[in-house]
Amino acid sequence: MAAEPKPATLSADEVRRLTELVADERRVPTAPAGTRTPGIEDFCRDAAVLLGADAVIRDAEALDKASTDWAHMSPILAARLPAGRAEVVLRPSRHELVPAVVALAHRLRIPVTPRGKGTGNYGQAIPLRGGAVLDLTGCDRVLDAGDGWIRAEAGAKMSDLEAHARSLGQELWMFPSTFGTTLGGFLAGGNGGTGSLSNGTNGDGFVRELTVVPCTAEAEPFTVRNEAALPYIHAYGTTGIIATATVSLQRARAWTGLFAAFDAWESATAALAALVRLEPAPRLVSMDEPGLVRTFAPDPALDPDALSLRSIVEERAEPEARALVERHGGRVLETRPAPRGPALISSLSFNHPTYHLMKAEQGWFHLEISGDVLLGDPSAVKAVYPDTVLHLEGMRAGPVGMLMARYEDPDTVYRGIEALNALGVGVHDVHQWYVDRRVDLVRATARTTDPLGLINPGHLLSA
Ligand SMILES: Cc1cc2nc3c(=O)[nH]c(=O)nc-3n(C[C@H](O)[C@H](O)[C@H](O)COP(=O)(O)OP(=O)(O)OC[C@H]3O[C@@H](n4cnc5c(N)ncnc54)[C@H](O)[C@@H]3O)c2cc1C
Repeated sequence: MAAEPKPATLSADEVRRLTELVADERRVPTAPAGTRTPGIEDFCRDAAVLLGADAVIRDAEALDKASTDWAHMSPILAARLPAGRAEVVLRPSRHELVPAVVALAHRLRIPVTPRGKGTGNYGQAIPLRGGAVLDLTGCDRVLDAGDGWIRAEAGAKMSDLEAHARSLGQELWMFPSTFGTTLGGFLAGGNGGTGSLSNGTNGDGFVRELTVVPCTAEAEPFTVRNEAALPYIHAYGTTGIIATATVSLQRARAWTGLFAAFDAWESATAALAALVRLEPAPRLVSMDEPGLVRTFAPDPALDPDALSLRSIVEERAEPEARALVERHGGRVLETRPAPRGPALISSLSFNHPTYHLMKAEQGWFHLEISGDVLLGDPSAVKAVYPDTVLHLEGMRAGPVGMLMARYEDPDTVYRGIEALNALGVGVHDVHQWYVDRRVDLVRATARTTDPLGLINPGHLLSA
């Protein structure tokens, strides 16, 4: 079985280095509004011939929209925005059109930033050096599927892939809480989601095959399979444009949503840990403190004054899951069948509680956290920052989650990360937009797939 999705843990030295980089604007010169890349007019003219005039978009509103993502969820990144502006948006209608336009960008030395739905929350879709944004949402065909796999264009929605798989009696290994985002964006910018409990991250065997367009003179697409796909996963496109992807399916299960309430952290986390080990395995187990539950849309399955434990379990395992909750002192508020129950639970997972909290009130920041220490008495973890609230996701190898707290300043955030590490909490820093997983592999690959550093420039730091 694949390894579980743990946010990468940064050492104190790495945290310090990233802090310095974030403070050092000169490392990544950005492209403010009005910047013109030499050759951009020729590029737009020739791109219109390749893609059709309607697919080459230059109106101000479209350029602004294509230049932002969800980086503003981080107050540290928000202070650096706007950080770059597209000079043109290209919207190819099928993946076969991508190589010619990338070859054109290579010939004219135009930066190209691939883009799905723009929901990445590290600023990884921001075109820091301007140039072209390659919006792949028009390349959204599901191409083929078989036993255990589905193949689609990069702009296909994860929700469409799941629907297609279910029509064949199968389902995706995993999808993010941003269910309508693109396959390419999830693979190049995301990490995991519903299904990761037992299937790990999107770098743990989910990807069977990728067709990648390199930024070279010919931009000849090539295919990578299994482990060889790793340099393109969570690399923000810096190693090439994903044109199509084949990802793993499993036999469809009959899921139901179980919603429970607890009064104490220790009993709720004990139930979460037990649910994670349930057989057959749940698709998702999430938990929130009342301070987060109160920011969700009111629902009888969510008690705003209690800890909320939610799980997508197989219908046949529901009696056992219910008994398990009650054994740990919890109350089952509701079991809500598919599609509504599981859909609500997925939509409140991973970064969505952060989103709801920030929507309800300004002034928060968040960190991705991990470690068994989160299952025990949370008081030391909660004492690191003011007004900390916690969201947990159950995984077979230990919990991951989100820590949200009142924002003071960057120094306080980074000092807190060191304090959390000292408590045994793994932290993934969400306040910087540089590739931070498999960095050496990504750099080595990009040397051949993007020798001029034109794809999503500024997001891959040199060694
Ligand atoms: C509220 C909220 C909840 C979230 N929940 C989750 C979650 O559960 N799990 C999770 O993993 N993430 C989550 N995210 C992050 C984000 O939703 C995922 O990264 C998402 O799947 C990105 O898809 P997208 O289509 O929006 O990609 P974009 O944001 O457009 O792009 C993401 C990155 O991939 C690159 N890229 C896009 N398409 C391609 C391509 N075809 N080839 C190469 N590079 C490409 C972009 O340049 C960018 O660097 C969440 C974000 C928010 C704001």
